[in-house]
Amino acid sequence: QAKAAGGRAFRFYAPAMNERQQDLLALESDLHWALERNEFVIYYQPQADMLSGKVVGMEALLRWQHPERGLIQPDDFIPLLEETGLIVKVGLWVLKQACLDAMAQQAQTQLPLRISVNLSARQFSAGDLAAQVAEVLAEIGFAPNQLELEITEQMLINDLETSAGTLEALQRLGVRVSIDDFGTGYCSLAYLKRFPLHALKIDRTFVSELPANLSDSAIVEATILLAHKLGLEVVAEGVEQAEQLHFLRQLGCNMVQGYYLSKPRPAAELAGMVALDLADLY
Ligand code: C2E
Ligand code: MG
Ligand code: MG
Ligand code: MG
Repeated sequence: QAKAAGGRAFRFYAPAMNERQQDLLALESDLHWALERNEFVIYYQPQADMLSGKVVGMEALLRWQHPERGLIQPDDFIPLLEETGLIVKVGLWVLKQACLDAMAQQAQTQLPLRISVNLSARQFSAGDLAAQVAEVLAEIGFAPNQLELEITEQMLINDLETSAGTLEALQRLGVRVSIDDFGTGYCSLAYLKRFPLHALKIDRTFVSELPANLSDSAIVEATILLAHKLGLEVVAEGVEQAEQLHFLRQLGCNMVQGYYLSKPRPAAELAGMVALDLADLY
């Protein structure tokens, strides 16, 4: 056609794939089998209440135990799961497995354990999210008020009408919803009051330089103040140091999550993590 159009022969070359692209392609093809081969693993990271010091919840964080490459972190395969659409199936698996792990843990301690599950944009915009979640909860017998779903600002504002409908359905179900990585997106707090939400998770980029960084300090302080005025709880992500913890406590931050308390650990270590207490760490 090129010849016919221009009278000259053009040839189009697909540029040779570089090593990184080939690597990604290989990883992507492995990813198609990962679920059936039981290669996904959920790690859990505790969230502690600032006032009581006790662990009140666990965030489920996906890992991929690759047979040759070892344990792969989410940043290296979640984008591939999203591109391929596999995230919908895998996300549903995470939800079920996290509920099952929490149930098993509760059976041991006889204490309720809340779990937070990250959602991808595809899952959130699917339309039948609330129905799917309801089905999983009923099937497993997990209490809706012990489940929290984490979404991002971007997901919320992508399609305001769909978001509102989904969030209202989740609220009727009794599931908590929090905004993850808060402050890194483009959603104003004024927007947030229109939706039935429960908590904001302040992104760790605002936490890492507390309290020395004065603009971060101001942002975190203002966020906590406004969130509380809007009836939202606040979780600080990525708390690594005692000084950060003290500062956040002074500001009235409700919960903390971060390496200071614990790194994410496999389900087998849930029992040890639920027993952690901020008071023991000072
Ligand atoms: P996220 O939901 O914001 O999770 C918090 C991330 O911060 C986790 O990284 C956690 O290990 C890390 N983190 C926690 N405390 C600290 C700390 O004190 N210091 C530092 N430097 N990092 C800390 P991870 O596990 O690598 O997960 C990365 C992201 O992958 C998550 O960010 C989430 O967006 C996504 N993700 C993880 N699991 C799932 C999943 O099941 N589904 C979906 N859709 N996304 C997931
Ligand atoms: Mg999260
Ligand atoms: Mg986050
Ligand atoms: Mg994130």
